[in-house]
Amino acid sequence: MSLAQGRPYLAIPGPSTMPDRVLAAMHKPAPNIYEGEIEEIAARVAANLRRVAMSSSHVAIYIANGHGAWEASIANVFSRGDKALSLVTGRFGDIWAKSATTMGVEVERLEFGLKSPADPARVEEALRADTGHELKAVLMTHVDTATSVRNDVAAIRAAIDAANHPALLMVDCIASLGCDEFRMDDWGVDVMVAASQKGLMVPPGLGFVWFSDKALEASRSSNMVTPYWNWHPRAFPEMVYQYFGGTSPTHHLFGLDESLKMILDEEGLPHIWKRHAALARAVWAAFETWGQGGDLALNIAEPAHRAHSVTAARIGNGGAERLRKWLEAEAGVTLGIGLGMAEPGTPEADDFLRVAHMGHVNAHMTLGALATMEAGMQALDIPHGRGGIAAAAGEIAKGVAQA
Ligand SMILES: *Cc1c(COP(=O)(O)O)cnc(C)c1O
Repeated sequence: MSLAQGRPYLAIPGPSTMPDRVLAAMHKPAPNIYEGEIEEIAARVAANLRRVAMSSSHVAIYIANGHGAWEASIANVFSRGDKALSLVTGRFGDIWAKSATTMGVEVERLEFGLKSPADPARVEEALRADTGHELKAVLMTHVDTATSVRNDVAAIRAAIDAANHPALLMVDCIASLGCDEFRMDDWGVDVMVAASQKGLMVPPGLGFVWFSDKALEASRSSNMVTPYWNWHPRAFPEMVYQYFGGTSPTHHLFGLDESLKMILDEEGLPHIWKRHAALARAVWAAFETWGQGGDLALNIAEPAHRAHSVTAARIGNGGAERLRKWLEAEAGVTLGIGLGMAEPGTPEADDFLRVAHMGHVNAHMTLGALATMEAGMQALDIPHGRGGIAAAAGEIAKGVAQA
């Protein structure tokens, strides 16, 4: 007998859970797209997007997903034949680097494997070796959603500065913005990309690129960008259609306006960062306890290197895939697939999964997901250490006591 009836929980790293308030804000007729309310909403959303990035820089909004925002950032910064240094810590860093290559950028890759963050010392070394200062930018992910590693953005900026190198720092925060602490200005980030459907809690469909004055300057001499992707009219619009290169994404804007209000003016970023950290610690505690009695392990061993928005883990002998299927069919919980951890189609590929704890997620959702995982492991005879849920509950209690 399945117990999946009831509200389903999609605990994958995006689309994340959308607040009913966000969905309700979208549930109304389209406004006039030429003037009036839409002008106010577009201006407020742009201002609040800068606040959520802790940035005084510029922001361009695209009707696109994260892949679109990636390409937008590349197209504005580079000319064909320019060079970039790409720090790869998982599938997402890999694809961003590949899209830059396909677009005509000469990408030098620094690989850090699937279990470790980017090492600032290696970045500094690579930049020192570039004596002609040909590398125009360093590309990195803050959180790589595939490995769930969290990179130290400020340390990479320090490495660039220590090498006395003028490279721009470009960061993918698609899986971290609105979840993990991120400070664009303080951390010296020149270009940052994000999308609507993760920590920002809005349906997929909007991509964002923030850029510093230094990046704006660099974009003036680049020759790759086409009119739609040009960030300049979007960031400095004279008419409302210029924000979006055409018709406004009216309903996404209604939703985003509401979610940014919840993030910035109601819960507040500092509390959001602490909430995600506490939920993440509950997930880690469950896996660490389960791993004491079975072939289960978190992908990232060092807690300081783990994302607070998503957790990648391994359950051997195909346990991850069997558990994912059981959870969806019997318990109404959908977990994320493993991504880029093993060759697709091989038996090892069935050993990986990801649990998201990203965006509009609270203690009962995360504890519920973990408890149903434990039920699934019992049902499927997947060996695991006892007491995982008690350990997770302990972390939730501690998190509440701290806040
Ligand atoms: C989800 C994600 C992407 C891709 O976003 P899409 O909206 O699926 O194109 C890129 N980078 C990171 C870090 C992500 O988490």
